[in-house]
Amino acid sequence: MNYSSNPVPITLAHGDGIGPEIMCATLRMLEASGAPLDIETIEIGEKMYLSGNTSGIGSEAWDSLFRTRVFLKGPITTPFGGGYKSLNVTARITLGLFANIRPCISYSPFVFTRFPKMDVVIIRENEEDLYAGIEYRQTRQVYQTLKLVSEPGSEKIVRYAFEYARNNGRRKVTCLIKDNIMKVTDGLFHRVFDRVASEFPDIESDSMIIDIGTARLADSPDMFDVIVTQNLYGDIISDVAAQLSGSVGIGGSSNVGDKCAMFEAIHGSAPDLAGKDLANPSGLLLSAIMMLVHINLPGPAAALHNAWLKTLEDGIHTGDVFKTGMSRKRVGTQGFADAVIARLGQMPAQREAVTYAKQIKPIQPSDWNLRMASDTKTLAGVDIFLDYPNVKPNDLGVQLESLTVEGLKLVVVSNRGVKVYPNAFADTFCSDHWRCRFESTDKGSTIQYRKVLAQMESLSNAGLDCIKSENLYLFDGKAGYSLAQGQ
Ligand code: NAD
Repeated sequence: MNYSSNPVPITLAHGDGIGPEIMCATLRMLEASGAPLDIETIEIGEKMYLSGNTSGIGSEAWDSLFRTRVFLKGPITTPFGGGYKSLNVTARITLGLFANIRPCISYSPFVFTRFPKMDVVIIRENEEDLYAGIEYRQTRQVYQTLKLVSEPGSEKIVRYAFEYARNNGRRKVTCLIKDNIMKVTDGLFHRVFDRVASEFPDIESDSMIIDIGTARLADSPDMFDVIVTQNLYGDIISDVAAQLSGSVGIGGSSNVGDKCAMFEAIHGSAPDLAGKDLANPSGLLLSAIMMLVHINLPGPAAALHNAWLKTLEDGIHTGDVFKTGMSRKRVGTQGFADAVIARLGQMPAQREAVTYAKQIKPIQPSDWNLRMASDTKTLAGVDIFLDYPNVKPNDLGVQLESLTVEGLKLVVVSNRGVKVYPNAFADTFCSDHWRCRFESTDKGSTIQYRKVLAQMESLSNAGLDCIKSENLYLFDGKAGYSLAQGQ
């Protein structure tokens, strides 16, 4: 096939384990499709890690990525042992790839699944949440990780999900969150979802708590269409969904940002299969097809997708999918690629053929006018955290009352989020980590930051171990912090 447009520059990494084999197969299929690509190959992963580069990627690779802005990536082996940073997390954050898109589609009866009609796209926020990796050991007993969620970050991913649904003929977007517990962070995500949903009246929307949402996904995936969620929840449910739809060998994904995009199979480097010509190249091929759509080459994308579907229908299967009675021929990685190449130009008979339209206007996150809140922010108090082993909550409360500075009052002491002073249950288990909340004596009125410093000084002078503080702000008069359980 001949596509006349100028070759599109892309960066490519073969990866580790089965990476080189499935990439070789994918490149042969891409070439046979006639997709005009100008490929720069970079070295990343295990070799780089073991040569002393703790992030697994060198400066020449970054130069290529910032030049082409399109990355087709094989799976990477992260060596065991301390000090090695996840290349995937580094690439997502450095390239600003805020959206991870994983279509989880059943190919029944050719790929075994208990859910033959499953067709769900998971859109996961990729840059925020617990993945900032900001963690501390604060006391001998208590460790902390920070969950950071921003309004523009939430709006970007939610807006992306609705735009994706509209551009891909999808009918519904479901938001999965845990705002019954995390009212501030997940509550923000939910509010942003409701606000953006109201701008897309042609797309249905609903939201569920992540636990029941995951249970329903595992039981009745047909009730979902597009799912949008935060980073950690998305990480977990996209693996659940991929597993439900069939083999891990057939899942593709894209990671998309304002300026760059990265495409990779959802599976890892499968060291157990490496070098044996056994791995299924379909996950990487489907990722490469997503890349062709992204760079506006819908013709070769559709040709490859339809040839791939026809290969599955013809019963030409790699070992992970092969089933006696249903499959006709077991093939290796390269044999599967040969079969797809031989079927270029053919359409599937039992499934609807795939069509991709040239994108008149691809999704352009940089065009979005994201809401930047300008609420009035005032300081209303402080939470001071103490490391204090072997103290009774009531004794601590009484001691704190005596150390409270003028203009502030002790409102509550909590341990692991549960109120333990005043008037608490005697049986609550207490660790050595205490949150002591001081607010303005005149509830809701503003205090000066020097009051916070004075309160910390008062506690420190009495020999108490202040391990951190968190300012309590009001935004347009509304509390920007949660209450303790029982407060
Ligand atoms: P894995 O996905 O590599 O393998 C899980 C199972 O699925 C294995 O039984 C494997 O044989 C099978 N499998 C995977 N890909 C297949 C394919 N294409 N065809 C047929 N069967 C396939 O996960 P793992 O074993 O947990 O991890 C192995 C390595 O991969 C680790 O070093 C891990 O850090 C890395 N990893 C990398 C990525 C990535 O680069 N995006 C993602 C996940 C894991």
